[in-house]
Amino acid sequence: MRHRPPALVDTHSSFRHLTKGHRLQTSSLIGGKWVGSADGTTLAVTNPATDEVIARVQALGAAETRDAVDAAYRAGPRWASTTAAERGTLIARLATLMRRDVERLARLMTLEQGKPLAEARGEIGYAASFLDWAAEEGKRLKGEIIPASAADKRILVLRQPVGVTAIITPWNFPAAMITRKLGPALAAGCTVVIKPAEDTPLSALAIGELACEAGIPDGVINIITGKAAPIGDAMFDDPRVRKLSFTGSTEVGRMLMGKASKNLLRISLELGGHAPFIVFDDADMDRAVDAAVACKFRNAGQTCICANRFYVQAGVYDEFVSRFAVAIEGLRVGDGLSDGVQIGPLINDAAMEKVESHIQNATSLGGRLVVGGKRVRVDGHADRFYAPTLVAEMTPEMLVCREETFGPVAPVAKFNSESEAITRANDSEFGLAAYFFTRDASRLMRVAESLEYGIVGANDAAPSTAQAPFGGVKHSGLGREGGSHAMDEYSEIKYVSWRL
Ligand code: ADP
Repeated sequence: MRHRPPALVDTHSSFRHLTKGHRLQTSSLIGGKWVGSADGTTLAVTNPATDEVIARVQALGAAETRDAVDAAYRAGPRWASTTAAERGTLIARLATLMRRDVERLARLMTLEQGKPLAEARGEIGYAASFLDWAAEEGKRLKGEIIPASAADKRILVLRQPVGVTAIITPWNFPAAMITRKLGPALAAGCTVVIKPAEDTPLSALAIGELACEAGIPDGVINIITGKAAPIGDAMFDDPRVRKLSFTGSTEVGRMLMGKASKNLLRISLELGGHAPFIVFDDADMDRAVDAAVACKFRNAGQTCICANRFYVQAGVYDEFVSRFAVAIEGLRVGDGLSDGVQIGPLINDAAMEKVESHIQNATSLGGRLVVGGKRVRVDGHADRFYAPTLVAEMTPEMLVCREETFGPVAPVAKFNSESEAITRANDSEFGLAAYFFTRDASRLMRVAESLEYGIVGANDAAPSTAQAPFGGVKHSGLGREGGSHAMDEYSEIKYVSWRL
Protein backbone atom coordinates (compact mmCIF):
# COMPACT_ATOMS: atom_id res chain seq x y z
CA MET A 1 0.00 0.00 0.00
CA ARG A 2 1.22 3.51 -0.82
CA HIS A 3 0.11 5.31 2.29
CA ARG A 4 1.37 8.80 3.00
CA PRO A 5 1.13 10.41 6.40
CA PRO A 6 -2.01 12.47 6.95
CA ALA A 7 -1.79 15.86 5.31
CA LEU A 8 -1.94 18.69 7.81
CA VAL A 9 -4.76 20.79 6.56
CA ASP A 10 -5.09 24.31 7.80
CA THR A 11 -8.79 24.74 8.37
CA HIS A 12 -10.47 28.09 8.35
CA SER A 13 -10.33 29.76 11.75
CA SER A 14 -14.03 30.55 11.91
CA PHE A 15 -14.69 26.95 11.05
CA ARG A 16 -12.62 25.77 14.02
CA HIS A 17 -14.65 28.09 16.18
CA LEU A 18 -17.91 26.75 14.79
CA THR A 19 -16.91 23.15 15.44
CA LYS A 20 -15.88 23.99 18.99
CA GLY A 21 -12.14 23.52 18.47
CA HIS A 22 -12.35 19.91 17.30
CA ARG A 23 -9.64 19.30 14.75
CA LEU A 24 -11.24 18.48 11.49
CA GLN A 25 -10.47 15.16 9.81
CA THR A 26 -9.73 15.73 6.13
CA SER A 27 -7.67 12.63 5.30
CA SER A 28 -9.13 9.38 4.03
CA LEU A 29 -9.34 6.19 6.06
CA ILE A 30 -7.70 3.09 4.59
CA GLY A 31 -6.86 0.02 6.66
CA GLY A 32 -7.08 1.97 9.91
CA LYS A 33 -4.69 4.70 8.76
CA TRP A 34 -5.50 8.28 7.81
CA VAL A 35 -3.96 8.82 4.40
CA GLY A 36 -3.49 11.49 1.77
CA SER A 37 -3.64 11.25 -1.99
CA ALA A 38 -0.48 9.96 -3.69
CA ASP A 39 -0.12 13.09 -5.81
CA GLY A 40 -1.16 15.54 -3.09
CA THR A 41 -4.33 16.75 -4.80
CA THR A 42 -7.26 17.93 -2.74
CA LEU A 43 -10.91 18.92 -3.19
CA ALA A 44 -12.43 22.04 -1.64
CA VAL A 45 -15.45 21.67 0.61
CA THR A 46 -17.57 24.82 0.69
CA ASN A 47 -20.38 26.07 2.86
CA PRO A 48 -23.33 26.46 0.48
CA ALA A 49 -24.74 29.28 2.63
CA THR A 50 -21.65 31.48 2.33
CA ASP A 51 -19.41 30.02 -0.40
CA GLU A 52 -16.64 29.95 2.20
CA VAL A 53 -14.10 27.15 1.67
CA ILE A 54 -14.27 25.35 5.00
CA ALA A 55 -11.74 22.59 4.33
CA ARG A 56 -9.90 20.67 1.67
CA VAL A 57 -10.14 16.88 1.63
CA GLN A 58 -7.89 14.43 -0.15
CA ALA A 59 -8.65 13.65 -3.79
CA LEU A 60 -7.82 9.98 -4.00
CA GLY A 61 -7.67 8.09 -7.26
CA ALA A 62 -7.71 4.57 -8.65
CA ALA A 63 -4.54 3.36 -6.87
CA GLU A 64 -5.77 4.41 -3.42
CA THR A 65 -9.19 2.92 -4.17
CA ARG A 66 -7.50 -0.41 -4.84
CA ASP A 67 -5.66 0.00 -1.52
CA ALA A 68 -8.98 0.54 0.23
CA VAL A 69 -10.51 -2.53 -1.43
CA ASP A 70 -7.41 -4.47 -0.47
CA ALA A 71 -7.76 -3.38 3.18
CA ALA A 72 -11.46 -4.30 3.21
CA TYR A 73 -10.76 -7.63 1.54
CA ARG A 74 -8.03 -8.55 4.01
CA ALA A 75 -10.14 -7.52 7.02
CA GLY A 76 -13.13 -9.53 5.72
CA PRO A 77 -12.54 -13.09 6.96
CA ARG A 78 -11.72 -12.02 10.51
CA TRP A 79 -14.70 -9.67 10.75
CA ALA A 80 -17.03 -12.32 9.31
CA SER A 81 -15.83 -14.86 11.83
CA THR A 82 -16.53 -12.70 14.90
CA THR A 83 -19.87 -13.38 16.53
CA ALA A 84 -22.90 -11.30 15.65
CA ALA A 85 -22.98 -10.17 19.27
CA GLU A 86 -19.39 -8.89 19.11
CA ARG A 87 -20.08 -7.06 15.89
CA GLY A 88 -23.28 -5.69 17.37
CA THR A 89 -21.46 -4.30 20.40
CA LEU A 90 -19.03 -2.36 18.20
CA ILE A 91 -21.75 -1.09 15.86
CA ALA A 92 -23.86 0.06 18.82
CA ARG A 93 -20.80 1.79 20.31
CA LEU A 94 -20.45 3.83 17.12
CA ALA A 95 -24.11 4.86 17.48
CA THR A 96 -23.50 5.90 21.08
CA LEU A 97 -20.48 7.99 20.07
CA MET A 98 -22.48 9.70 17.34
CA ARG A 99 -25.13 10.65 19.89
CA ARG A 100 -22.44 11.81 22.32
CA ASP A 101 -21.06 14.13 19.64
CA VAL A 102 -24.40 15.15 18.18
CA GLU A 103 -23.78 18.88 18.56
CA ARG A 104 -20.40 18.83 16.81
CA LEU A 105 -21.58 16.49 14.05
CA ALA A 106 -24.74 18.51 13.46
CA ARG A 107 -22.80 21.78 13.10
CA LEU A 108 -20.38 20.13 10.74
CA MET A 109 -23.28 18.85 8.64
CA THR A 110 -24.96 22.26 8.51
CA LEU A 111 -21.67 23.85 7.48
CA GLU A 112 -21.06 21.54 4.55
CA GLN A 113 -24.64 20.81 3.53
CA GLY A 114 -26.67 23.85 4.61
CA LYS A 115 -29.67 22.25 6.32
CA PRO A 116 -31.02 23.93 9.48
CA LEU A 117 -29.18 22.88 12.62
CA ALA A 118 -32.31 21.34 14.16
CA GLU A 119 -32.66 19.10 11.12
CA ALA A 120 -28.98 18.20 11.26
CA ARG A 121 -29.32 17.19 14.92
CA GLY A 122 -32.33 15.11 13.96
CA GLU A 123 -30.36 13.44 11.20
CA ILE A 124 -27.57 12.40 13.57
CA GLY A 125 -30.11 10.71 15.86
CA TYR A 126 -31.79 9.10 12.85
CA ALA A 127 -28.40 7.96 11.50
CA ALA A 128 -27.48 6.40 14.86
CA SER A 129 -30.83 4.57 14.97
CA PHE A 130 -29.88 2.54 11.88
CA LEU A 131 -26.72 1.39 13.62
CA ASP A 132 -28.61 0.44 16.78
CA TRP A 133 -31.21 -1.50 14.85
CA ALA A 134 -28.64 -3.39 12.77
CA ALA A 135 -26.51 -4.15 15.85
CA GLU A 136 -29.47 -6.10 17.25
CA GLU A 137 -30.79 -7.50 14.00
CA GLY A 138 -27.44 -9.12 13.13
CA LYS A 139 -28.05 -11.52 15.99
CA ARG A 140 -31.22 -12.76 14.30
CA LEU A 141 -29.74 -13.49 10.88
CA LYS A 142 -30.83 -17.10 10.97
CA GLY A 143 -30.35 -19.94 8.50
CA GLU A 144 -32.75 -22.84 7.89
CA ILE A 145 -32.92 -26.63 7.87
CA ILE A 146 -35.36 -27.85 5.21
CA PRO A 147 -36.80 -31.40 5.37
CA ALA A 148 -35.11 -33.47 2.65
CA SER A 149 -36.75 -35.99 0.31
CA ALA A 150 -34.21 -38.74 1.12
CA ALA A 151 -33.89 -40.19 4.63
CA ASP A 152 -30.10 -39.98 4.56
CA LYS A 153 -29.95 -36.33 3.50
CA ARG A 154 -30.18 -33.00 5.27
CA ILE A 155 -30.66 -29.62 3.61
CA LEU A 156 -28.98 -26.71 5.37
CA VAL A 157 -29.32 -23.07 4.34
CA LEU A 158 -26.56 -20.79 5.64
CA ARG A 159 -26.53 -16.98 5.58
CA GLN A 160 -23.06 -15.62 4.90
CA PRO A 161 -21.73 -12.08 4.29
CA VAL A 162 -21.73 -10.97 0.66
CA GLY A 163 -18.17 -9.64 1.03
CA VAL A 164 -16.52 -6.33 0.25
CA THR A 165 -19.24 -3.73 -0.20
CA ALA A 166 -18.89 -0.45 -2.07
CA ILE A 167 -21.07 2.24 -0.49
CA ILE A 168 -21.69 5.37 -2.58
CA THR A 169 -23.79 8.11 -1.01
CA PRO A 170 -25.31 11.51 -1.87
CA TRP A 171 -25.02 14.92 -0.19
CA ASN A 172 -28.60 15.46 0.99
CA PHE A 173 -28.32 13.25 4.10
CA PRO A 174 -24.55 13.12 4.67
CA ALA A 175 -24.71 10.87 7.77
CA ALA A 176 -27.92 8.83 7.55
CA MET A 177 -27.37 7.63 3.99
CA ILE A 178 -24.08 6.13 5.15
CA THR A 179 -25.27 4.46 8.36
CA ARG A 180 -28.40 3.04 6.72
CA LYS A 181 -26.03 0.96 4.59
CA LEU A 182 -23.11 0.64 6.98
CA GLY A 183 -25.16 -0.79 9.88
CA PRO A 184 -26.61 -3.84 8.11
CA ALA A 185 -23.44 -4.39 6.04
CA LEU A 186 -21.26 -4.62 9.16
CA ALA A 187 -23.88 -6.57 11.10
CA ALA A 188 -24.04 -9.18 8.33
CA GLY A 189 -20.24 -9.50 8.42
CA CYS A 190 -19.30 -7.45 5.35
CA THR A 191 -16.44 -4.96 5.21
CA VAL A 192 -16.91 -1.71 3.32
CA VAL A 193 -15.35 1.00 1.19
CA ILE A 194 -17.37 4.20 1.44
CA LYS A 195 -17.26 6.98 -1.13
CA PRO A 196 -19.25 9.94 0.18
CA ALA A 197 -20.52 12.74 -2.07
CA GLU A 198 -17.93 15.34 -3.07
CA ASP A 199 -20.07 18.09 -1.50
CA THR A 200 -20.28 16.51 1.96
CA PRO A 201 -17.21 14.38 2.75
CA LEU A 202 -16.56 15.86 6.21
CA SER A 203 -19.53 14.21 7.92
CA ALA A 204 -18.41 10.85 6.51
CA LEU A 205 -14.83 11.30 7.75
CA ALA A 206 -16.12 12.33 11.18
CA ILE A 207 -18.10 9.07 11.34
CA GLY A 208 -14.89 7.26 10.36
CA GLU A 209 -13.05 8.83 13.29
CA LEU A 210 -15.77 7.71 15.68
CA ALA A 211 -15.68 4.19 14.18
CA CYS A 212 -11.97 4.05 15.07
CA GLU A 213 -12.74 5.28 18.58
CA ALA A 214 -15.48 2.64 18.88
CA GLY A 215 -12.84 -0.03 18.24
CA ILE A 216 -14.14 -1.29 14.91
CA PRO A 217 -11.08 -3.17 13.56
CA ASP A 218 -8.77 -1.66 10.95
CA GLY A 219 -9.88 -2.26 7.39
CA VAL A 220 -13.51 -3.03 8.25
CA ILE A 221 -14.55 0.52 7.35
CA ASN A 222 -12.59 2.42 4.70
CA ILE A 223 -13.62 5.90 3.59
CA ILE A 224 -12.18 7.50 0.50
CA THR A 225 -12.81 10.97 -0.84
CA GLY A 226 -12.15 12.31 -4.30
CA LYS A 227 -13.60 12.57 -7.77
CA ALA A 228 -16.35 10.08 -8.41
CA ALA A 229 -15.40 8.49 -11.73
CA PRO A 230 -11.85 7.23 -11.03
CA ILE A 231 -12.88 5.91 -7.61
CA GLY A 232 -16.03 4.31 -8.98
CA ASP A 233 -14.26 2.75 -11.94
CA ALA A 234 -11.57 1.26 -9.73
CA MET A 235 -14.27 -0.21 -7.49
CA PHE A 236 -16.14 -1.75 -10.40
CA ASP A 237 -12.98 -3.12 -12.03
CA ASP A 238 -11.90 -4.95 -8.88
CA PRO A 239 -13.31 -8.49 -8.66
CA ARG A 240 -12.85 -8.48 -4.89
CA VAL A 241 -15.74 -5.99 -4.59
CA ARG A 242 -18.94 -8.08 -4.41
CA LYS A 243 -21.66 -5.58 -3.70
CA LEU A 244 -22.72 -2.03 -4.54
CA SER A 245 -25.06 -0.09 -2.33
CA PHE A 246 -25.87 3.28 -3.88
CA THR A 247 -28.13 6.20 -3.05
CA GLY A 248 -28.34 9.04 -5.55
CA SER A 249 -29.93 10.07 -8.80
CA THR A 250 -31.64 7.65 -11.17
CA GLU A 251 -29.31 8.77 -13.94
CA VAL A 252 -26.14 7.90 -12.04
CA GLY A 253 -27.73 4.77 -10.54
CA ARG A 254 -28.55 3.45 -14.00
CA MET A 255 -25.00 4.13 -15.17
CA LEU A 256 -23.50 2.40 -12.11
CA MET A 257 -25.82 -0.57 -12.59
CA GLY A 258 -24.25 -0.98 -16.01
CA LYS A 259 -20.74 -0.81 -14.60
CA ALA A 260 -21.68 -3.23 -11.80
CA SER A 261 -22.63 -5.80 -14.42
CA LYS A 262 -18.95 -6.34 -15.25
CA ASN A 263 -18.39 -8.37 -12.08
CA LEU A 264 -22.08 -9.19 -11.60
CA LEU A 265 -22.27 -7.34 -8.32
CA ARG A 266 -25.17 -7.65 -5.95
CA ILE A 267 -26.78 -4.20 -6.08
CA SER A 268 -29.01 -2.06 -3.92
CA LEU A 269 -30.11 1.20 -5.54
CA GLU A 270 -32.06 3.93 -3.80
CA LEU A 271 -32.73 6.44 -6.56
CA GLY A 272 -34.88 9.44 -7.38
CA GLY A 273 -38.52 9.87 -6.56
CA HIS A 274 -41.49 12.01 -7.52
CA ALA A 275 -43.89 11.65 -4.64
CA PRO A 276 -47.56 12.45 -5.11
CA PHE A 277 -49.39 13.85 -2.07
CA ILE A 278 -53.16 13.34 -2.30
CA VAL A 279 -55.71 15.11 -0.12
CA PHE A 280 -59.24 13.69 -0.29
CA ASP A 281 -62.38 15.67 0.59
CA ASP A 282 -62.75 13.73 3.84
CA ALA A 283 -59.17 14.35 5.06
CA ASP A 284 -58.35 15.86 8.43
CA MET A 285 -57.32 19.23 7.02
CA ASP A 286 -55.14 20.29 9.99
CA ARG A 287 -53.09 17.13 9.68
CA ALA A 288 -52.92 17.33 5.91
CA VAL A 289 -51.61 20.92 5.91
CA ASP A 290 -49.07 20.30 8.67
CA ALA A 291 -47.87 17.15 6.93
CA ALA A 292 -47.65 18.90 3.56
CA VAL A 293 -45.34 21.57 5.00
CA ALA A 294 -43.14 19.05 6.81
CA CYS A 295 -42.98 16.65 3.89
CA LYS A 296 -42.30 19.27 1.22
CA PHE A 297 -39.94 21.70 2.90
CA ARG A 298 -37.65 19.55 5.03
CA ASN A 299 -34.07 19.98 3.80
CA ALA A 300 -35.37 22.76 1.49
CA GLY A 301 -37.14 20.11 -0.56
CA GLN A 302 -33.88 18.31 -1.35
CA THR A 303 -35.11 14.89 -0.27
CA CYS A 304 -35.88 11.90 -2.45
CA ILE A 305 -39.12 11.09 -0.63
CA CYS A 306 -40.38 14.66 -0.28
CA ALA A 307 -43.75 15.50 -1.86
CA ASN A 308 -43.23 16.67 -5.43
CA ARG A 309 -46.83 17.15 -6.61
CA PHE A 310 -50.01 17.73 -4.65
CA TYR A 311 -53.42 16.50 -5.81
CA VAL A 312 -56.33 17.94 -3.86
CA GLN A 313 -59.98 16.94 -4.28
CA ALA A 314 -62.30 19.64 -5.64
CA GLY A 315 -64.34 20.05 -2.47
CA VAL A 316 -61.34 21.12 -0.35
CA TYR A 317 -59.02 22.49 -3.04
CA ASP A 318 -59.48 26.19 -2.28
CA GLU A 319 -59.33 25.67 1.48
CA PHE A 320 -56.17 23.55 1.21
CA VAL A 321 -54.40 25.99 -1.10
CA SER A 322 -55.14 28.99 1.10
CA ARG A 323 -54.16 27.23 4.34
CA PHE A 324 -51.03 25.74 2.78
CA ALA A 325 -50.07 29.19 1.47
CA VAL A 326 -50.36 30.76 4.94
CA ALA A 327 -48.22 28.01 6.45
CA ILE A 328 -45.58 28.37 3.71
CA GLU A 329 -45.38 32.14 4.11
CA GLY A 330 -44.53 31.64 7.78
CA LEU A 331 -41.39 29.58 7.03
CA ARG A 332 -38.10 31.30 7.84
CA VAL A 333 -35.35 31.23 5.23
CA GLY A 334 -31.69 31.76 6.17
CA ASP A 335 -28.35 30.31 7.24
CA GLY A 336 -28.94 26.91 8.83
CA LEU A 337 -26.79 27.94 11.79
CA SER A 338 -29.14 30.83 12.69
CA ASP A 339 -31.81 30.24 15.32
CA GLY A 340 -35.27 29.48 14.05
CA VAL A 341 -34.32 29.02 10.39
CA GLN A 342 -36.45 26.38 8.65
CA ILE A 343 -35.23 26.65 5.05
CA GLY A 344 -31.49 26.72 4.37
CA PRO A 345 -29.64 27.32 1.09
CA LEU A 346 -29.80 25.06 -1.94
CA ILE A 347 -26.72 22.88 -2.30
CA ASN A 348 -25.21 24.65 -5.32
CA ASP A 349 -25.87 26.97 -8.27
CA ALA A 350 -27.03 24.14 -10.52
CA ALA A 351 -29.77 23.36 -7.98
CA MET A 352 -30.87 27.01 -8.05
CA GLU A 353 -30.97 27.00 -11.85
CA LYS A 354 -33.10 23.86 -11.86
CA VAL A 355 -35.61 25.33 -9.40
CA GLU A 356 -35.84 28.56 -11.38
CA SER A 357 -36.27 26.75 -14.68
CA HIS A 358 -39.08 24.62 -13.20
CA ILE A 359 -40.89 27.73 -11.91
CA GLN A 360 -40.43 29.53 -15.19
CA ASN A 361 -41.77 26.51 -17.07
CA ALA A 362 -44.77 26.12 -14.72
CA THR A 363 -45.83 29.77 -14.94
CA SER A 364 -45.40 29.80 -18.72
CA LEU A 365 -47.79 26.82 -18.90
CA GLY A 366 -50.50 28.49 -16.81
CA GLY A 367 -49.34 27.77 -13.24
CA ARG A 368 -50.43 30.42 -10.73
CA LEU A 369 -47.79 31.59 -8.25
CA VAL A 370 -49.54 31.81 -4.88
CA VAL A 371 -46.48 32.25 -2.65
CA GLY A 372 -42.74 32.66 -3.33
CA GLY A 373 -41.33 32.11 -6.80
CA LYS A 374 -38.19 34.17 -6.24
CA ARG A 375 -34.75 34.17 -4.67
CA VAL A 376 -34.34 35.49 -1.12
CA ARG A 377 -31.36 37.69 -0.23
CA VAL A 378 -29.76 36.80 3.10
CA ASP A 379 -27.33 39.49 4.23
CA GLY A 380 -23.68 38.56 4.01
CA HIS A 381 -24.49 35.23 2.38
CA ALA A 382 -24.30 33.58 -1.01
CA ASP A 383 -27.15 34.09 -3.48
CA ARG A 384 -28.43 30.56 -2.99
CA PHE A 385 -31.66 30.90 -1.02
CA TYR A 386 -35.03 30.33 -2.67
CA ALA A 387 -38.37 31.33 -1.19
CA PRO A 388 -40.69 28.45 -0.31
CA THR A 389 -43.11 28.44 -3.21
CA LEU A 390 -46.66 27.36 -3.94
CA VAL A 391 -47.84 27.02 -7.56
CA ALA A 392 -51.52 26.31 -8.11
CA GLU A 393 -53.15 24.85 -11.23
CA MET A 394 -50.37 22.35 -11.98
CA THR A 395 -50.85 20.40 -15.24
CA PRO A 396 -49.22 17.13 -16.37
CA GLU A 397 -47.07 18.87 -19.02
CA MET A 398 -45.18 20.94 -16.47
CA LEU A 399 -41.65 19.92 -15.49
CA VAL A 400 -42.62 20.17 -11.80
CA CYS A 401 -45.11 17.38 -12.46
CA ARG A 402 -42.59 15.05 -14.08
CA GLU A 403 -39.02 15.72 -12.88
CA GLU A 404 -37.60 16.01 -9.39
CA THR A 405 -37.36 19.74 -8.64
CA PHE A 406 -35.22 19.11 -5.54
CA GLY A 407 -36.12 22.49 -4.12
CA PRO A 408 -38.76 24.24 -1.98
CA VAL A 409 -41.53 24.20 -4.58
CA ALA A 410 -45.03 22.81 -4.04
CA PRO A 411 -47.19 22.49 -7.20
CA VAL A 412 -50.88 21.74 -6.62
CA ALA A 413 -53.60 20.36 -8.93
CA LYS A 414 -57.31 19.73 -8.45
CA PHE A 415 -58.93 16.31 -8.98
CA ASN A 416 -62.49 15.02 -8.80
CA SER A 417 -62.63 11.24 -8.23
CA GLU A 418 -60.57 8.67 -6.35
CA SER A 419 -59.74 6.78 -9.54
CA GLU A 420 -58.56 10.00 -11.20
CA ALA A 421 -56.26 10.70 -8.23
CA ILE A 422 -54.75 7.22 -8.41
CA THR A 423 -54.23 7.38 -12.18
CA ARG A 424 -52.53 10.75 -11.96
CA ALA A 425 -50.43 9.72 -8.94
CA ASN A 426 -49.20 6.60 -10.75
CA ASP A 427 -48.42 8.51 -13.94
CA SER A 428 -44.68 8.69 -13.23
CA GLU A 429 -41.56 6.78 -14.10
CA PHE A 430 -40.68 6.94 -10.39
CA GLY A 431 -42.07 4.78 -7.61
CA LEU A 432 -40.41 5.69 -4.33
CA ALA A 433 -42.89 7.33 -1.92
CA ALA A 434 -46.53 8.44 -2.10
CA TYR A 435 -48.76 10.08 0.50
CA PHE A 436 -52.50 10.44 0.90
CA PHE A 437 -54.91 11.78 3.48
CA THR A 438 -58.40 10.40 4.11
CA ARG A 439 -60.59 9.44 7.07
CA ASP A 440 -62.36 6.65 5.19
CA ALA A 441 -60.86 3.29 6.24
CA SER A 442 -62.01 1.40 3.13
CA ARG A 443 -60.58 4.04 0.86
CA LEU A 444 -57.37 4.01 2.86
CA MET A 445 -56.71 0.34 2.10
CA ARG A 446 -57.90 0.63 -1.53
CA VAL A 447 -55.65 3.57 -2.28
CA ALA A 448 -52.65 2.14 -0.41
CA GLU A 449 -52.88 -1.01 -2.51
CA SER A 450 -53.31 0.87 -5.79
CA LEU A 451 -50.36 3.23 -5.52
CA GLU A 452 -47.34 1.93 -7.46
CA TYR A 453 -44.81 3.03 -4.88
CA GLY A 454 -42.46 1.24 -2.49
CA ILE A 455 -43.41 3.48 0.44
CA VAL A 456 -46.93 4.77 1.12
CA GLY A 457 -47.71 7.28 3.85
CA ALA A 458 -51.41 6.93 4.77
CA ASN A 459 -52.28 10.02 6.83
CA ASP A 460 -48.54 10.16 7.53
CA ALA A 461 -45.82 12.15 5.84
CA ALA A 462 -42.86 10.90 7.88
CA PRO A 463 -42.55 7.19 7.06
CA SER A 464 -38.76 6.80 7.36
CA THR A 465 -37.65 4.81 10.37
CA ALA A 466 -34.91 2.27 11.09
CA GLN A 467 -37.17 -0.77 11.42
CA ALA A 468 -39.16 -0.33 8.19
CA PRO A 469 -38.17 -1.42 4.66
CA PHE A 470 -37.34 1.70 2.66
CA GLY A 471 -37.02 1.58 -1.12
CA GLY A 472 -38.69 2.10 -4.43
CA VAL A 473 -40.10 0.43 -7.52
CA LYS A 474 -39.84 1.41 -11.21
CA HIS A 475 -37.06 3.96 -11.79
CA SER A 476 -36.68 4.57 -8.06
CA GLY A 477 -34.46 1.59 -7.48
CA LEU A 478 -33.87 -1.95 -6.33
CA GLY A 479 -33.75 -3.49 -2.90
CA ARG A 480 -34.76 -2.28 0.55
CA GLU A 481 -32.91 -0.49 3.32
CA GLY A 482 -33.87 -0.56 6.98
CA GLY A 483 -35.33 -3.25 9.18
CA SER A 484 -34.79 -6.97 8.77
CA HIS A 485 -35.15 -6.69 4.98
CA ALA A 486 -31.89 -4.74 4.86
CA MET A 487 -30.00 -7.75 6.16
CA ASP A 488 -30.97 -9.69 3.03
CA GLU A 489 -29.12 -7.14 0.91
CA TYR A 490 -25.81 -7.90 2.62
CA SER A 491 -26.05 -11.65 3.11
CA GLU A 492 -25.66 -14.44 0.63
CA ILE A 493 -27.59 -17.70 0.84
CA LYS A 494 -25.56 -20.89 0.71
CA TYR A 495 -27.26 -24.27 0.43
CA VAL A 496 -25.44 -27.26 1.89
CA SER A 497 -26.75 -30.63 0.73
CA TRP A 498 -25.53 -33.08 3.36
CA ARG A 499 -25.57 -36.82 2.82
CA LEU A 500 -25.27 -38.63 6.14
P1 ADP B 1 -26.98 13.74 -6.29
O1 ADP B 1 -27.91 14.24 -7.34
O2 ADP B 1 -27.61 13.41 -4.99
O3 ADP B 1 -25.70 14.49 -6.19
P2 ADP B 1 -25.63 11.77 -7.83
O4 ADP B 1 -26.34 10.62 -8.38
O5 ADP B 1 -25.12 12.80 -8.75
O6 ADP B 1 -26.63 12.33 -6.76
O7 ADP B 1 -24.44 11.31 -6.91
C1 ADP B 1 -24.60 10.39 -5.86
C2 ADP B 1 -23.26 9.79 -5.55
O8 ADP B 1 -22.79 9.09 -6.70
C3 ADP B 1 -22.17 10.80 -5.20
O9 ADP B 1 -21.36 10.26 -4.16
C4 ADP B 1 -21.41 10.90 -6.49
O10 ADP B 1 -20.08 11.30 -6.30
C5 ADP B 1 -21.47 9.46 -6.95
N1 ADP B 1 -21.13 9.26 -8.37
C6 ADP B 1 -21.46 10.02 -9.41
N2 ADP B 1 -20.91 9.54 -10.55
C7 ADP B 1 -20.21 8.42 -10.21
C8 ADP B 1 -19.40 7.47 -10.90
N3 ADP B 1 -19.16 7.57 -12.21
N4 ADP B 1 -18.83 6.47 -10.19
C9 ADP B 1 -19.03 6.35 -8.88
N5 ADP B 1 -19.77 7.22 -8.16
C10 ADP B 1 -20.37 8.24 -8.80
